[in-house]
Amino acid sequence: MKQQKPKTLYLASKNQHKLREINEIIADTTITCRLATALGGDITWNESGNSFIANALEKARALKKLTQEAVLADDSGLVVRALGGAPGIFSSRYAGKDATDHDNNLKLLNELAETPKAQRTASFVCALVYIPAHSKCHYAYIGQVHGTILTSFRGYSGFGYDPLFLPLGKDKTFGEQSQHEKNKSSHRHQALRSWRQSFA
Ligand code: IMP
Repeated sequence: MKQQKPKTLYLASKNQHKLREINEIIADTTITCRLATALGGDITWNESGNSFIANALEKARALKKLTQEAVLADDSGLVVRALGGAPGIFSSRYAGKDATDHDNNLKLLNELAETPKAQRTASFVCALVYIPAHSKCHYAYIGQVHGTILTSFRGYSGFGYDPLFLPLGKDKTFGEQSQHEKNKSSHRHQALRSWRQSFA
């Protein structure tokens, strides 16, 4: 069956930052992304998987139970080489269940306190799972951006670990870049670029 281009995408997330980034990245399409909460109802997911893709699939499937509209789920995080991949899929709760971004950043700095600059390499990973309207098939995409973790905060824009992440070849952290600048190279941009090839 030929898939129609969706007009609205429901995002299996409560994260306004992700929503804003996604809408800016797809601003040149006719598609608008909305948070799942716009559908009403009680939407919950567990993130019980052991990969970004598994968690994104879990979120997308949970949302798909509530709507036949097209849904998108984003599970993302920071993978730090010197920490064996941590915080990884636990990025949002690195410093504990109710941790703030600041708590997580402080924990990251602490864990890397003894790690020399040259060994502070890291990648942001974004897994997207898309389920088209009236479909049971899912499509998965991965985007990555590589960089290093600084020893102190730089910049106030973005969210999460942005003020500590210096993308490879750039002189501004994600926290110092404008939203527009970040969206041209981010892990979310990379994953959405692949998704767009087929569906936008
Ligand atoms: P999720 O909502 O379970 O996918 O967790 C995402 C977490 O990963 C966020 O709470 C941030 O800590 C981190 N993260 C993901 N994407 C970004 C980003 O673009 N910038 C900064 N931190 C991010």
